[in-house]
Amino acid sequence: MDVFSESEVLIGSKEPLTRSMFLMHRAGDRMGLEKSIISDIVDPQQLVVLRLPVKFWGKIFVVWGCISLHNNARGPYKGGIRLSPDVSLWETVELSRLMTLKTAISDIEFGGGKSGIRLNIDDAYGLLGKKERDTEFEKALGMAICEEFAGQARKYLDDLIYVPAPDMGTGPDEMACIFNQTLNPASVTGKPEGIHGWLPGRKESTGYGCFRSTLRLMQDILNISPSDSTVALQGFGNVGSHVALYLAEKGAKIVAVTDYYGGAYDKKGLHIHGLDRYVKENGTVKGFTSEEITQEQLLSLDVDVLIPAAVENVIRKDNAHTVRAAGIVEAANAPIAYDAMDILEDKGTKILPDIVANSGGVIASMEEYSRSLSAIKIEKKDVLKVIDDKINNSLDAVFTESEKTGKSFSEVAVHFALRRVYDAMKKRWHI
Ligand code: NAD
Repeated sequence: MDVFSESEVLIGSKEPLTRSMFLMHRAGDRMGLEKSIISDIVDPQQLVVLRLPVKFWGKIFVVWGCISLHNNARGPYKGGIRLSPDVSLWETVELSRLMTLKTAISDIEFGGGKSGIRLNIDDAYGLLGKKERDTEFEKALGMAICEEFAGQARKYLDDLIYVPAPDMGTGPDEMACIFNQTLNPASVTGKPEGIHGWLPGRKESTGYGCFRSTLRLMQDILNISPSDSTVALQGFGNVGSHVALYLAEKGAKIVAVTDYYGGAYDKKGLHIHGLDRYVKENGTVKGFTSEEITQEQLLSLDVDVLIPAAVENVIRKDNAHTVRAAGIVEAANAPIAYDAMDILEDKGTKILPDIVANSGGVIASMEEYSRSLSAIKIEKKDVLKVIDDKINNSLDAVFTESEKTGKSFSEVAVHFALRRVYDAMKKRWHI
């Protein structure tokens, strides 16, 4: 891994070492694969860089984005569109790689892809002459950006080469903008309720899957009942809010929630329905309780389960030693950095990896995509049952193999996924 891969040489920069890369190389070595073959599975197959000039409020606002088409050996490149100030090419590559692993471990006939669009909202406020924070303005701008993105990515979308979905900063409304251009209900998942090809349960699917994963962690591994458990949650967007609502229904005590703007804390447990209403009105959890909490304080709370459901790399080498939770459910993608792995493992922290824990969204997307031309709606409970079954299958396999080999859940999950991707690449392309 010390030498540059061919894609890194072309791009002229070395990809930061990530946990998935590391574990894929390790699994490939164990399978006896040649280094060049492992790199071929680890590297993205195609990268597209886009300049997106967006017409908005009579001005042209230019943002940049990229699409990482990581691997399509097992099906179309599948993965969300992220709209955030911190997007980079390598971040998008890593997220697309996680999609390849996620669809493989879940045994869904999709590959892995991802789009990232860099939006510095402060620049937009400046250029467009707006001073006060205005969530409707931000929403309208995001939708205009997605419309421009869809226009430029048409050939990938029309031919179902790449099938996007929501990710951080995008949701059903932005997916509707994409559908309005392609007019093909299979070309995008996560569409809003009531339009052609929407799926009941898609909106809450990722949070629901994280919730089910958390229950398995509590019951099978930590030996605690949900109603006796304490939880800390980072991120209260699409994923975080739903996982919190489901966990609260089971009686879990969620003592702290943070988001981009701040945090709310109550040692007796937050009123999650009240918090959900508050966030819908105010756009943040900040101010919901008199007692506030910072990100670092939240990560080091003495709770049973910590659920990072916001961004990558929040638990790193410099703060991993402060984590006191017995278990971590990776609701976000890659919230634990590569260099924090050993520290947490040495402490005995049980980590449910992202590629299983947050796979509910892509499992629902599989249903949405497959049923897109059907005018007969499946019921939400049936979608949630598919998520349950798929996640339980993955977790059964991962828990059993981990017990047998003594390897972490992350390592075992990546190994299973890599084997499926390699088998498909071998059958299709004789690698
Ligand atoms: P979202 O945009 O709906 O919500 C993100 C939340 O994280 C917000 O509460 C935001 O305030 C908070 N946040 C952002 N930056 C933060 C920071 N630096 N510190 C603390 N909080 C911060 O996004 P989402 O769709 O809920 O996605 C959250 C995570 O889950 C991402 O890692 C995403 O890739 C992953 N994920 C999402 C889906 C999906 O279906 N939406 C599926 C799989 C994985």
